[in-house]
Amino acid sequence: MTINSINGCIGCEECVKSCPCDVIRLDKETGKAVILYPADCQICHLCRMYCPVDAIEIRPEKSIPVVVSWG
Ligand code: SF4
Ligand code: SF4
Repeated sequence: MTINSINGCIGCEECVKSCPCDVIRLDKETGKAVILYPADCQICHLCRMYCPVDAIEIRPEKSIPVVVSWG
């Protein structure tokens, strides 16, 4: 699971300020939030909860391979 996409951003920067892992940045040219380091996302959902326009989507699929060991 990871942060998946940002659509309909109004550039309030709340997600940037709320993310403890520095995953999201505000693009200076577009004035909108971009997902810069998706692999660092810890699925805390803070960005999604703080976004006033519900622009952030977090999906259940893994976007990066995860190594699991047994034994
Ligand atoms: S879910 Fe949490 S860690 Fe992931 S981008 Fe949002 S605030 Fe950052
Ligand atoms: S909180 Fe939502 S509207 Fe505000 S910058 Fe982030 S994605 Fe855009």
